[in-house]
Amino acid sequence: MFEKILIANRGEIALRVQRACREMGIKTVAVHSEADSEAKYVKLADESVCIGPAPSHLSYLNVPAIIAAAEVTDAEAIHPGYGFLSENADFAERVESSGFVFIGPRPESIRLMGDKVNAKRAMLESGVPCVPGSEGALPEDPDEILRIARDVGYPVIIKAAGGGGGRGMRVVHTEANLLNAVNMTRSEAQAAFGNPEVYLERFLQNPRHIEIQVLADEHGNAIHLGERDCSMQRRHQKIIEEAPAPGLDPKLRDKIGERCATACRKIGYRGAGTFEFLYENGEFFFIEMNTRVQVEHPVTELITGVDIIQEQIRIAAGEKLRYRQKDIKFRGHAIECRINAEDPYTFVPSPGRITQYHAPGGPGIRVDSHVYQNYFVPPYYDSMIGKLIAYGDTRDQAIARMRIALSEMVVEGVKTNIPLHQDLMQDPAFIAGGASIHYLTHKLEALK
Ligand code: ADP
Repeated sequence: MFEKILIANRGEIALRVQRACREMGIKTVAVHSEADSEAKYVKLADESVCIGPAPSHLSYLNVPAIIAAAEVTDAEAIHPGYGFLSENADFAERVESSGFVFIGPRPESIRLMGDKVNAKRAMLESGVPCVPGSEGALPEDPDEILRIARDVGYPVIIKAAGGGGGRGMRVVHTEANLLNAVNMTRSEAQAAFGNPEVYLERFLQNPRHIEIQVLADEHGNAIHLGERDCSMQRRHQKIIEEAPAPGLDPKLRDKIGERCATACRKIGYRGAGTFEFLYENGEFFFIEMNTRVQVEHPVTELITGVDIIQEQIRIAAGEKLRYRQKDIKFRGHAIECRINAEDPYTFVPSPGRITQYHAPGGPGIRVDSHVYQNYFVPPYYDSMIGKLIAYGDTRDQAIARMRIALSEMVVEGVKTNIPLHQDLMQDPAFIAGGASIHYLTHKLEALK
């Protein structure tokens, strides 16, 4: 096992990885920007290195500074967390060529999944169902494009092969708009991702977002840890996630989960990963794979008892998976609310000093957060200040515990989205379970 790991991230995930390392007896190196030098997890780390000024491109995305920090501290491996460099194949390659272990998949896997046209092709070859659409990138010939869209059926969505973060997508309802939309998406994709390739899919009208968590080792073993429902989204950003997905037939979950595990074996995937699907009328349609740990991983941890971060570290150290599929049992229900420092209804970020802070507790409550009283929420990064996770024997109990926890939680000095979460925990559609990815947008529009 490693003796020392460098954590190339910030905020709650830096603390989460640090806690996993400490439990495993591994020393940690925190790297931080000038804006994060007072953070508690930086002080709790065995060593810390400042890697640059506040803006991310000068610090958390500063590859030479991170590699140099690993060199001077003699760290053996680097955990990238999520966001920042976590899905950057060039970074993973740099880490390995500098003699460190990248705690994540092989660079080739990151690269494959970073190109959505190639990712879809690989999925279809592995037997994972995808949204019906163009086979590969759209051709140049306008007549061909029109024919493909007609075969798929309107409405369609044009997506950039190199897209991410909800950008580079355009929905087209009628043939008259198609070619113009394709051209616009192409030029946007070229400007934003340096890759003009676009592809086309049927636009699903009312899907849920359901994703499958996988773990794979470098010895050809792969398992799935079931699903999460992340349909409660604002502007393509998840805000509530839960496991298991309400109303999903466990047989269907096992089937799609097994397909994902098989795909991992076929592509030689290593580490933790997530297959994201749209789910409509009992069918799963792959949209993309995330080749890192996800924000919402704790809900899976609570219903399976598997520590996903610790497993990532063990896999990176070359160990064999400690679980076989039959060892994975799902028990109870878990819900996560992302707590953001932002206006609950306009989503405008609200950085600043937290003047009062009180974290909730009690049975079934987990708080993953790096903040504390007097913590300053910097304006430079993501607005998430923590995650509140509630576990119960049943979904109803998890919701009841979440309501109590939200009522106990105090964050003053900055605005937070706690009022929105309180509202959603009383919302009939949320309580019923199974709302679509558009539900929250429609609800917020109705409030205006
Ligand atoms: P990104 O990598 O930018 O997040 P995704 O492919 O994951 O892109 O899509 C992001 C979101 O866009 C999905 O969660 C869904 O809300 C919407 N979306 C993408 N593809 C489709 C589709 N074929 N039909 C309906 N909605 C879609």
